[in-house]
Amino acid sequence: MAEVESFTLDHTQVKAPYVRLIAEEHGPQGGTIANYDLRLVQPNETSIETAGIHTLEHLFASLVRDELDGIIDISPFGCRTGFHVISWQSYTPTQLAETFTRVLRKIRDDITWDDVPATTIRECGNFKDHSLHSAKAWADVILQAGLSDDPFVRHVVEA
Ligand SMILES: [Zn+2]
Repeated sequence: MAEVESFTLDHTQVKAPYVRLIAEEHGPQGGTIANYDLRLVQPNETSIETAGIHTLEHLFASLVRDELDGIIDISPFGCRTGFHVISWQSYTPTQLAETFTRVLRKIRDDITWDDVPATTIRECGNFKDHSLHSAKAWADVILQAGLSDDPFVRHVVEA
């Protein structure tokens, strides 16, 4: 089986919430992408319920693209503790931590249900499974802790 970097990470040693560069990968026909671990809650201690992480996914998809160029995808981990952020452009973990801090603040303080994109039966594969209440509550929990730009030592960014 192929070795997957994320599976070699010792999940007992990390201190969430944080942003970590997983790897920059070079395509066989050129082009480079950057893959990040956006860990929102502490692995094996807690996880974001499906409806909340689903709504965060929809909100990140549009709000983060408003702030950053080159975003390919922001998709939730199956363990529901965070997201992969994949980008054509390289950002430092500090830049991403600052951006997600601003976006989470917007989600917590400003966003209403009407702002959540693609929540109809035509636009989403499980349109009933959303919770803006949960997304806002988790945004608050994450902001209270602060996003670190180091996965192992708490170094919370200002934004
Ligand atoms: Zn959806």
